[in-house]
Amino acid sequence: MPYDRYETVIGLEVHLQLATQSKAFCGDDTRFGMPPNTQVSPISLGHPGTLPRLNSRQVAFAVKLAYALNSRVNPVNTFDRKNYFYADLPKGYQITQDKQPICVGGELPVKLGDTWKPIRIHHVHMEEDAGKSIHNLHPRKSLIDLNRAGTPLLEIVTQPDLRSAEEADAFMTGIRQLARYLEISDGNMEEGSLRCDVNVSVRLKGATALGERCEIKNLNSMRYARQAIEYEVKRQIDLIEAGGKVQQQTLNFDPASGATSALREKEDAHDYRYFPEPDLPPVVLSPEYLEEVRQELPPLPWEVYAQLSAENGLSDYDVSILFEERETVLLFEAVSRYCPNKKGIANLLINRLIPYCQEQKIRLGQFPVPPEHLGAFILLIDSGKVSNSTAYQRLFPAMIESPGASPEALATSLNLLQQADDGFLADLIRQVLEANPDKVKEYQKGKKGLMGFFMGELMKRSKGKADPAKATQMLSEALKS
Ligand code: ADP
Ligand code: MG
Repeated sequence: MPYDRYETVIGLEVHLQLATQSKAFCGDDTRFGMPPNTQVSPISLGHPGTLPRLNSRQVAFAVKLAYALNSRVNPVNTFDRKNYFYADLPKGYQITQDKQPICVGGELPVKLGDTWKPIRIHHVHMEEDAGKSIHNLHPRKSLIDLNRAGTPLLEIVTQPDLRSAEEADAFMTGIRQLARYLEISDGNMEEGSLRCDVNVSVRLKGATALGERCEIKNLNSMRYARQAIEYEVKRQIDLIEAGGKVQQQTLNFDPASGATSALREKEDAHDYRYFPEPDLPPVVLSPEYLEEVRQELPPLPWEVYAQLSAENGLSDYDVSILFEERETVLLFEAVSRYCPNKKGIANLLINRLIPYCQEQKIRLGQFPVPPEHLGAFILLIDSGKVSNSTAYQRLFPAMIESPGASPEALATSLNLLQQADDGFLADLIRQVLEANPDKVKEYQKGKKGLMGFFMGELMKRSKGKADPAKATQMLSEALKS
């Protein structure tokens, strides 16, 4: 197979929409999904005579990301105009950073299975988004929605360090996770908050020089990005194997056919005539300011991962779920303050809270029961006061009903507290056996399946309060004699 002899090389240009309330250079709202063209002032519309004014939040977000990626922050960085003509770009140019981007270098550790691979970052720059062209709502016309025009973006440009569609996928997942940890973007691909251009080339394994690359524009789903990469890798290898040469070009991906195709030459001509933006002064960042932002950095995903992995009792699976979202980590830590059983907390979060919140379509942080009571809940089980099954089946729903009540009080009022004393159980077992002498004989002759029947009877008589483990043990003892 010729394909095995080649290596895939990928570099990404990732666009991350920042979760600021207003746009990059004016006060217009940035909310997603509003009626078309309702979040557009004369500045978003690019009317002559309007002037941009920098939103300082986007700068703070960029600096935060820079520190998380271990990039170097340019203390003086500048804006440029990137000129092109398109209907969803009313000014006729996009404000971006070309010569002096805000961050240079750095790397993102990307999780591949159980290991982390550092992917080097070339630079990160600030820019504004364009509007949206909608080509599929009218048979002859394109519709334009400018709500998005001027929304702040960070463009994260990687070095060509990625080696497969899976690695590209993992990088995007990593960026989304980091953006959420830093609370700078929701990283939602479905809503277009995270998109990427993919640069793909191939070369013979062992070669050091890079192959000629193609750039696939504007992929807004990882499934499409993977399909596009796989299609493009095969196309390039086939071309080379047939004696041809890959031409550097810009491509579109068509999800319907699963194929990439070249843009018209004119569209591909990169003559953006960049020049300095005369209406915005350089961004000057003082050491005090930079330090202030750095202090706000939360623990980063790979740090949290390492920390959780070192916890006793948590499986790799537990860790990989817990560290996915910062909210989960925060809740895990909050409950840990009230309960030492980390595995118990992990089980509660993974098996109950996360599915419950997904079902209810609420965030984990909106789960009504406070961490203190969640900790107490696990302690009740661990101390044997409530059996595991009773706790999850009856007490837990009651806690959601009355989030303010302590689990112990709820368990008492619902009569769920387990009778720990053996005398109570022994009494009930005697009653069960005396009431069913025939079944006892059958059991003793070898019909061991009757255990379930005896347990059922016992549970009925104890009104569900018997600890199943204890009861099983005492029952089988009693049945021996
Ligand atoms: P542009 O011409 O698009 O402004 P750059 O040369 O800065 O671009 O590269 C943009 C992206 O392309 C970067 O992510 C970089 O890693 C990637 N890239 C550059 N050369 C290659 C290559 N030969 N194969 C794959 N990706 C590449
Ligand atoms: Mg490019």
